[in-house]
Amino acid sequence: MLTDAVSLTRSDVPMVGSKSPSTSTRKQPTAVEASAVRHLVLVLGDQLDERSAAFDQFDPKADVVWMAEVVEEATHVWCHQLRLVSFFSAMRHFRDRLTAGGWTVDYHELQQTAAGPEESSFASRLRASVHRHRPQRLIVVQPGDFRVLNQLQQTARDVQIPLEVRGDRHFYVPLGSFSRWAEGRKRLVLEHFYQEQRKTQRLLVDAAGKPLGGQWNFDTENRGSFGKSGPTALLGVPRFTPDALTRDVQRLVAARFADHPGRSDEFDLPVRREDALELLDDFITHRLPWFGQYQDAMWSGTIELYHSRLSHALNLKLLNPREVVGAAVTAYEAGHASLPNVEGFVRQIVGWREYVRGIYWQFMPEYEQRNALQCADLEVPKAFWTGDTEMACVRDSMHLVLRKAYAHHIQRLMVLGLYAQLLGVHPLRFHRWHMAMYADAIDWVSLPNTLGMSQHGDGGLMATKPYCASGKYVQRMSNYCSACRFRPDQATGEQACPLTTLYWNFLDRHAERFARNPRMVMQVKNLNRLSSSDRTAIARQAEQHRDRATRP
Ligand code: FAD
Repeated sequence: MLTDAVSLTRSDVPMVGSKSPSTSTRKQPTAVEASAVRHLVLVLGDQLDERSAAFDQFDPKADVVWMAEVVEEATHVWCHQLRLVSFFSAMRHFRDRLTAGGWTVDYHELQQTAAGPEESSFASRLRASVHRHRPQRLIVVQPGDFRVLNQLQQTARDVQIPLEVRGDRHFYVPLGSFSRWAEGRKRLVLEHFYQEQRKTQRLLVDAAGKPLGGQWNFDTENRGSFGKSGPTALLGVPRFTPDALTRDVQRLVAARFADHPGRSDEFDLPVRREDALELLDDFITHRLPWFGQYQDAMWSGTIELYHSRLSHALNLKLLNPREVVGAAVTAYEAGHASLPNVEGFVRQIVGWREYVRGIYWQFMPEYEQRNALQCADLEVPKAFWTGDTEMACVRDSMHLVLRKAYAHHIQRLMVLGLYAQLLGVHPLRFHRWHMAMYADAIDWVSLPNTLGMSQHGDGGLMATKPYCASGKYVQRMSNYCSACRFRPDQATGEQACPLTTLYWNFLDRHAERFARNPRMVMQVKNLNRLSSSDRTAIARQAEQHRDRATRP
């Protein structure tokens, strides 16, 4: 667990003050050493914010910004090509913005041909840069990945330069505040956390701190499906055509990472703050008014529906959550969007986004080892890399992921996540796959959502019951089943929907555990209505499907 009190001032090397990195370099000064700087400010690919704490007291005459594209960050999971383009392009645009402002940026680009061991990791790059710049101090804002934090701390110790890790004020809730909220609570219920944030941040509350509209959430109004006719009034969402710099990065990725999954020819994400602001404005104008109402709905062949697609810009810090939430609240106050729709959106950012970050830092590193449903040990299904499956819901969601490195929340939770959970995929493997395949995936946000919320791997810390359902849920919330050869009401036989087969088998496999969970009682009761021969037939069919779906 980390708190800001520690991370703000922490130096993770035995403090050597302004002692230079090595006496041997002192004795034999070289031309390179002449460039000694005061602070080397490390900016990671998801920290592209000029107002970041990293730049507090930045002195352009004495300090240097350091940024690096390294092979390890592109390969520690088998990264989607579009995800790589998005990170490297946004980083290069940010570099250009800083240099245009007169700052020195020591930026390390990957080249189309491999350039030796120095480019392999942050550690190797940083060691070489420290040798060159001889900074008195390294500064970084709390990384979004425990692994990266560890690596930077270890490198700082190795080169004997103090590393100052500053709190990330992009977020509403400092980690120390989350820890204080979490301490002594038996359950870390999102709803309690969210209501507290609404009061603290004075969002959608009246003068007495009571929720506008008399209730904290409008969940019952926010579960609409589209019916048979499908979504109406869907307007085109801004697509950001790659500029010369992004095209350069696409060539780099094609040269170095051509065997990685996905493709980047449909790249359309914002990589500059100006573009991210345009996407925000478009969302507020055209989609927010229906966001809550249709946030759980799915429709084949669509991309965002009424979702914002802002997670990527938020997570790279091109946008600040306060400006996003502020724009939504202003739209409500101006009568442009209704309270249930705006509250539904505010909840995602002020509630879920802050909450999962708190969970991550509160429980890492042991959190990622959790696998509460112990028989979950499979690899992700082959279709998660290719989109090749007869299941229309999985196929449509996966085609979107492969083309856009995006799927909206319900496709992630109630199609791909549901399928993985019912199959018995290992939660950490599901997380790693997710880290590879989505443009918005950073460890702090992917891990709790995948391992915790989606796979129930944390045994109920985040969600009091598993998000498990049969194919009938997908049928209710989408049009996928109408184009599918499987029947969601059948659990066995040639036409049985694999989600339905696997759902009953999932309940069966965990019946003892779920019988103790008051929120699962109804589902276990329904299971117990099945005859033992039905249960055996379901188990056999589920096993055959598992084998087919995951066998290499
Ligand atoms: P919208 O539906 O428009 O929501 C608005 C914003 O709210 C999002 O942009 C996001 O910033 C925030 N938000 C909503 N739900 C969550 C949540 N559960 N946790 C954190 N923020 C949330 N989100 C990520 O940003 N990165 C991830 O790696 C990620 N992994 C996920 C994995 C699984 C299995 C699931 C079920 C959810 C995951 N989410 C993740 C949360 C959510 O699905 C995405 O934030 C959302 O789909 C992004 O699309 P959007 O911007 O159109 O979101």
